[in-house]
Amino acid sequence: MYHRIAVLAGDEPAITVDLTVEPGEFALQMQWLQDNGYTSITQMQLYSALEEGKPLPDKPVLITFDDGYRSIATTAAPIMTRVDMVGTAYVVTDRIANLKKTDPTWLTWSQLRTLEQRGWDIGSHTASHTELPKLTPEAALKTLRVSRFALEKRLAHPVQWFCYPAGSVDAASVELVKKAGYVLATTTKSGDVHSAADPLQLSRIRISNSTGVRGLADALSS
Ligand SMILES: [Zn+2]
Repeated sequence: MYHRIAVLAGDEPAITVDLTVEPGEFALQMQWLQDNGYTSITQMQLYSALEEGKPLPDKPVLITFDDGYRSIATTAAPIMTRVDMVGTAYVVTDRIANLKKTDPTWLTWSQLRTLEQRGWDIGSHTASHTELPKLTPEAALKTLRVSRFALEKRLAHPVQWFCYPAGSVDAASVELVKKAGYVLATTTKSGDVHSAADPLQLSRIRISNSTGVRGLADALSS
């Protein structure tokens, strides 16, 4: 689980620092994955493996990016292309829709389409990044559907991958995510063992700037 890939200037708020991995560190991690035989997989590959028992490559990794930072397209994707890796960008659709031409923070629709052409997946991170358990069931279902429909309309194909804002999830949220038509969903729960019994609460490994290659290697071998 990554968020923003960018050089830290030193004056960012703590929350931004928390969500940032510097490009040099990120490149070393991607190179380490390739050197150690890992293969990045798509959401559909994971879905087919969990639901239909289809085989996965050895050492499969799903490389995900939350929130839709533009640095995914400008910085992360080019680094990953060099080592033959693809990822998933979970985007907040209102941020894309409301993008001002001068705002460099978030991905644009055109960048989402380019990522897809490189083999990436685009998933929903809701319309406005509100934590689902804090909403009424009606409002939660609405943001789940509105974001999915917006992505499907602009990308012209079904979008069934979801990521819970702030990792916030409860039993009712899982039911709503399912009702809204998603078939895989990721949390911020830590872990790397996944099962068909729980495809809407997939755990992940959080990578921060201090994780380093060593931390990634330790997390994947534990
Ligand atoms: Zn988020």
